[in-house]
Amino acid sequence: MRCDQCRTEIPVGEERQHLGRCLCEDCYMDVLSPARTCDPWAIHSARTFENLMGRQGMVTDLQRKILGILDRTGGVERHDLLQQLGEGITDQDLAREFSALRHMEKVRAEKRQDRVFLRLW
Ligand SMILES: [Zn+2]
Repeated sequence: MRCDQCRTEIPVGEERQHLGRCLCEDCYMDVLSPARTCDPWAIHSARTFENLMGRQGMVTDLQRKILGILDRTGGVERHDLLQQLGEGITDQDLAREFSALRHMEKVRAEKRQDRVFLRLW
């Protein structure tokens, strides 16, 4: 099966349904997030803002926590990360923060064999 958005091959069981489309983990995170990768202005303004604020200036507590876990583990799967973030953090919170961090080029998703790991950029 292929992702309806980016056309990459999705391993069986990894596909995500969203509004009738079949998406890979990556694109699914993007559609859940208000910041879209296809919007060059979002990336541009994030970079500009970061330059103004300094590299640590604009990350939220939750983002800092995510970066800490990824740094400590060298990369985890999404459900592991969610678990380590603890109670009260939803899948959508994670998707939003992860997407924001990705726009800052602090994190990315990496495919290792059949599994997708979230890791530092
Ligand atoms: Zn995709």
